[in-house]
Amino acid sequence: MKKRKIPILVMSSILAIGVVGITMFTYVNYVRQSLWNQAVNDILDSTTQEQESFQLFIEKDMENLTTILNSVSLEDETVIGSIMEHSSSNGYNLIYIDLNERTYLHQRQKEKLLDEEVNLLNNLPLSKGITKPYLNRVNGERTIASYIKLEDKLLVKEAPVEYIAEQFSLSFYNDLGFSYIIDDSGNVLMRNNHKNANRTMQNLFDIIDIEGNDQAIIQSFENALANHKKGYALFNYHDDTNVFCYIPITILNGWYIVSIIPNDIIMTQANNIIIFTIILSVIIIGAIGFILLLYRYNQRKHKNEVEYLAYFDALTNLFNYQKFKEEGNQRINQDEKKWAVIYSDIAGFKIINDLNGYEFGDKILKELAKIIQNTISLQSFSCHMTADKFLMMCDYQEKQDLAKICESIHRQLYSILKKYGLEKESVIKFGICCLEDDEIHNIDGLVDRSHLALNEVSSNPKDYYSFYNYSMRERMMKEADIEAKMEKALENREFVFYLQPKYNVLGNQILGAEALVRWIDHTGTMIMPGDFIPIFEKNGFILKLDEYVFEKVCQYLSDRIQKNYPVVSISINVSRLHFYQLDFIERYVNIKEKYQIPDGLLELEVTENVLLEDMKKIQEIISQLQSYGFKCSIDDFGSGYSSLNLLKDLSFDVIKLDKLFLDNSVNSQRSEEIIKSIIDMAKHIEIKTVAEGVETQKQLAFLKKTDCDMIQGYIFSKPLPIHEFEDILKDSQRLVA
Ligand code: C2E
Ligand code: CA
Ligand code: CA
Repeated sequence: MKKRKIPILVMSSILAIGVVGITMFTYVNYVRQSLWNQAVNDILDSTTQEQESFQLFIEKDMENLTTILNSVSLEDETVIGSIMEHSSSNGYNLIYIDLNERTYLHQRQKEKLLDEEVNLLNNLPLSKGITKPYLNRVNGERTIASYIKLEDKLLVKEAPVEYIAEQFSLSFYNDLGFSYIIDDSGNVLMRNNHKNANRTMQNLFDIIDIEGNDQAIIQSFENALANHKKGYALFNYHDDTNVFCYIPITILNGWYIVSIIPNDIIMTQANNIIIFTIILSVIIIGAIGFILLLYRYNQRKHKNEVEYLAYFDALTNLFNYQKFKEEGNQRINQDEKKWAVIYSDIAGFKIINDLNGYEFGDKILKELAKIIQNTISLQSFSCHMTADKFLMMCDYQEKQDLAKICESIHRQLYSILKKYGLEKESVIKFGICCLEDDEIHNIDGLVDRSHLALNEVSSNPKDYYSFYNYSMRERMMKEADIEAKMEKALENREFVFYLQPKYNVLGNQILGAEALVRWIDHTGTMIMPGDFIPIFEKNGFILKLDEYVFEKVCQYLSDRIQKNYPVVSISINVSRLHFYQLDFIERYVNIKEKYQIPDGLLELEVTENVLLEDMKKIQEIISQLQSYGFKCSIDDFGSGYSSLNLLKDLSFDVIKLDKLFLDNSVNSQRSEEIIKSIIDMAKHIEIKTVAEGVETQKQLAFLKKTDCDMIQGYIFSKPLPIHEFEDILKDSQRLVA
């Protein structure tokens, strides 16, 4: 997807710019052409106007001449002479000619006409008109004449060509254009005073010829003139392309006005529009480009934002778990073995939150994120997984490097916690798994195993990291296997209970027994509670199993009672999880009543760590159970934090001294004293005592010296299958009897 987007954007930009470019180019050409056409038409128009006013001038002249001629025809010579003199001015002369007399009258002077003049005048094509320029006989100036002829009389108005030309010298476009009057052979009849007008050449065709124009164009220009057409042509003239607009002067056969103007001048206006258009195009293209860039920028920004949301954790700015896994898998696939995942968890973080609020908790997490970032190497990366759990993927040379990272993070966080007086409440722990330590193919494998290692860190605050090893995984696999099989095993009655007798101190009488669960799987293999009880406590299955064992014990007792066989009190273990079940008492009481077990025969054992919970609630539960005829005992007393004072506040019937407690105490005088005083005190408040795990004669000898009520241990008997227990129970009864 990423790869396709850029070309599309580039393509569309190029296309947009191309379209604008082509449109502008077409537009410019169109504007140029139409403006040029317009300009040429304008020139033709003004040339036509000039032609018309020239014609008007001539017609007016003719009219004047006619009037004068008519009025002088009857006058005598002197009168005519004075009229001629008065009517002449600086610019022109009026001449009266008598072809019959072969004379002409000029400024009152009568002169003789030359023969060729008489000939010429006799052969004038029309009765009125204008001559082509000629050299004046008197002053030698180039002269042009208009004339009117009435039978053998002629009135001629002579004027220097310059004089006429001055009046009709056409100029336009701020005097940049000018005009010639020529005949159809190209002869310049009147030339303009314009600086660009040629002063030497007499023929326009020659002029354009020496400027090096194409013969074919010159030819077609000549043809147009020969055919009295109006139009325009382009010629090189004075190193420039010039437009020649030509218009025939209708009343003067073969005369033309030709207006000449450099093409550039005509194009100036067009050029302005073109420049404007180019600027406009550049602006438009620039704007398109800018919009595209803006679009791209926004798209990138949006992509970055989406990416951030998709890849980063808002609280810590570290990667989120998803991104961490992606990156992690990449590293693993690079086939470089020196990578490890460190899984960190803050033990007791809940307390920090509870004591100081979540905002404060977040602050600590942010600080920790910073510490992690600054401690791991540049190639390494980390993520905030959930709550107080962080993951790091680190490269290393020696495993010791990883331990050092943990050590450093631990130290830095410790000092922050210390600042807030929280160093005792919580401690960060790390589980480390190295890629090289197992057959690991993806990040999930590394994370799972580092988590396993984390779970292996002991609860001792001095211990804060552990490296993964294969046995951890085996254990985990076993756990998973157990979890997969437990439900089916319960259905298939694979769980049974053994009974371990509790003897008097002398060991000659069974006073009770403890039901201990065993799992005998379909292959007949026995699985010990230590292998599955912790797992069931974790996943809650213990609730079902305990109740099952309890019911089986009730079933067994009821069976014995019905058969009138001797019975002893049996204690059953209940997990502390039951204390959170609202219907716990109800369920157990129902079962007890279902099997009609007399009061006092059933004892429920809860481990001493339950005492750490809500005391009032526990006391309530105990009291209720007792009111339904159960006895209650504290199991594993002395293994943890239990204090003697607790015994006073809680109304237990029995305490079971933990095996470890006994093991430790036997060797020291002081510990013996403690045990002794516990037993004494229990006796005092009428609580029975059971010493558990008694194995040696030495232990027994010590206990004999105390008031301990019962001994439960290998020294007398291991937990036994029911029928074996019944056998020894029979013997013991016999002994007592
Ligand atoms: P526990 O309740 O403290 O039970 C006593 C354990 O000590 C039993 O282990 C027993 O076999 C062992 N034991 C007894 N005398 C000696 C001795 O002289 N030396 C040594 N080394 N051990 C001795 P077991 O049967 O493996 O049970 C282990 C634990 O599993 C029990 O400890 C109890 O906490 C738990 N458990 C057993 N059955 C159940 C059950 O049905 N429900 C619950 N919730 N827990 C049970
Ligand atoms: Ca027990
Ligand atoms: Ca115990």
